[in-house]
Amino acid sequence: MSRPAAVPLSVIRDDVRALHAYPVPASAGLVKLDMMENPYSLPAELARNLGEHLGTVALNRYPPGEPGEFKRRLRARSGVPDACAMLLGNGSDELIHLVILACARPGAVILSPWPSFAMYRMSACLDGCRFVGVTLQSDFRIDLPAMLAAIDEHSPAVVFLSYPNNPTGNLFDRAQIEAILEAAPGLVVIDEAYLPFARRTWMEDLPRRPNLLVLRTLSKLGLAGLRLGYLCGAPVLIEQFDKVRPPFNVNVLTLAAVDFLLDHFDVLDAHAATVRADRERLATELHSMAAIQVFDSAANFLLLRVANAAGVFAKLLQQGILIKDVSTVHPLLQNCLRVTIGTAEENAKFVHALRASI
Ligand code: PMP
Repeated sequence: MSRPAAVPLSVIRDDVRALHAYPVPASAGLVKLDMMENPYSLPAELARNLGEHLGTVALNRYPPGEPGEFKRRLRARSGVPDACAMLLGNGSDELIHLVILACARPGAVILSPWPSFAMYRMSACLDGCRFVGVTLQSDFRIDLPAMLAAIDEHSPAVVFLSYPNNPTGNLFDRAQIEAILEAAPGLVVIDEAYLPFARRTWMEDLPRRPNLLVLRTLSKLGLAGLRLGYLCGAPVLIEQFDKVRPPFNVNVLTLAAVDFLLDHFDVLDAHAATVRADRERLATELHSMAAIQVFDSAANFLLLRVANAAGVFAKLLQQGILIKDVSTVHPLLQNCLRVTIGTAEENAKFVHALRASI
């Protein structure tokens, strides 16, 4: 049998070869304010008890087919209406992919206001759908006439709304979202990744909105490393997404850790409250700097505009501060930088370094 003389790279799809993998920059030794992580880890005693609990988990067994009791507890904590079902994902990233995959008929369109979370577009493209981004207004509000026209023109299978929006930080207007829910011929996913900082939800609207799905994650609450997201909506819809879910997508350690921590969410909620207060403090401080424009944020990050984003980003990095340069992501984000709210000490270091960089 003849074997190829070279690596047969040509079997890989052209669009995949043209892609760059999702960038996760090296951050060792830096003040890490680039990925909207929560800066707080668990208190030492709680972490020790959690470790002990995880030591009892049977690692030789696959995760359960249906972690019913776990879901019941998570639902109760999350206020999921009784009439709705819930699907667990390996982070909400995976659930975005599963929703799109289940809807990926040839020619299907995935639509979102834009700029927004990169994975909506990336998953749509990887799953063979067409992505339509509807440009936001210059103040990052939804351009409703443009949105309704795009919905009419493209009949999207799924509309994604990041609530609040990443990377701009604002909460879209409720009445505008209601108009989108009315107009959309397919599904509307409201992505509440930043719920702990926005404290605005569409969860109670689920029972009377058959095309609505609410997506959440525990990542921003301080558990990003565990990778647990959940999607809520009509049982007949959730059932379809469950069919495209890889079996055992959420591992036993994640299930056990979250199950244990559900009794201690007051600790995580307190961390989120600190982040919210520190966001306001940091925003006030940045507002006082004449060379910077700061946008209102309901999330755990702030979007800033400076005169020369690439230069400021590089100077911050030289001083050991890693944030995110989003200035080339979209024309609306020209000269914009995104900074995650860290601890009070990290925020102070950021402000100090920023003053020396603008
Ligand atoms: N949705 C939005 C709007 C996000 O910004 C992010 C992560 N930055 C996610 C979903 C993904 O979160 P995870 O996969 O960690 O649950």
